[in-house]
Amino acid sequence: MRIIRTIPELRAAVSDARNDGASVGLVPTMGAFHEGHLSLMRRAREDNGLVVVSLFVNPTQFGANEDLGSYPRDEARDAAMAQAEGVDVLFAPDAAEIYPEGFATSIHVSGLTEVLDGASRGAHHFDGVATVVTKLFGIVRPDVAYFGQKDAQQVLVVRRLVRDLNLDVRIEACPIVREADGLAMSSRNVYLDAAARARATALNRALDAASALADAGERDAAVLIDAASRVLDEAGIRPDYLELRDNDDLHAVTRLDGEALLAVAACVGAARLIDNHILRSTDLKGGA
Ligand code: AMP
Repeated sequence: MRIIRTIPELRAAVSDARNDGASVGLVPTMGAFHEGHLSLMRRAREDNGLVVVSLFVNPTQFGANEDLGSYPRDEARDAAMAQAEGVDVLFAPDAAEIYPEGFATSIHVSGLTEVLDGASRGAHHFDGVATVVTKLFGIVRPDVAYFGQKDAQQVLVVRRLVRDLNLDVRIEACPIVREADGLAMSSRNVYLDAAARARATALNRALDAASALADAGERDAAVLIDAASRVLDEAGIRPDYLELRDNDDLHAVTRLDGEALLAVAACVGAARLIDNHILRSTDLKGGA
């Protein structure tokens, strides 16, 4: 595996592989790898001749009071893990390579970015995500890019910008990888002390409670959300949001009809965590 830090070197490595007929898969990450990241790398490895993993803690998607300074960083460990998955290139630029002096462009996806994490973290967050992802697509020019369903809103934002800007890349969303007790894996889980780690399982349990009700035929969003909310309450967790929204344009859903995204964010101890389930009305079960 090569570790590449500059855009010209990365472009040369990609065009060599492309000339040899390889398809190119990109896995964008901020590092601090766990099984969630590795699942994307494995998927990319199965599908492509060249696998590029980007490792860049993107400053523009963090707010002033967020954890940019303390975000876990361990490039040597990440490089060893990526190598073990058969990744070809770890693209680990510094901030000046991505945002040189005079950088002045921002990608804003309206609508989708104004709710859920966009409302809770501020518009800067998804502007930062959309801009860096667009840049990575321009730098790597992948055939396929792999994202985790853990960040469901991010998947929708990326799909929309790809469609709106006619970018020639396929977006693959991969399932959420969880710890044995259901907690969604996250680089931020390292912020949890033992007590917070135990309480954090309430996020997935809350989503499970709503999923079980949906499976039993409940369609009223308020009832589904209330069931999840009670589980969070019992764990002493007050969510930033707990909402049922359309899984395409994110409009608020009052009745489950087809499938919808139940998304939650909450601060638990020192970590801000997010999680989600796709709920499906029972008439869709057993179908495709
Ligand atoms: P991050 O390094 O947190 O920006 O994540 C990089 C990619 O890994 C994003 O597409 C995430 O959605 C994905 N990812 C993070 N956690 C998980 C998880 N538990 N399961 C699946 N994908 C994940």
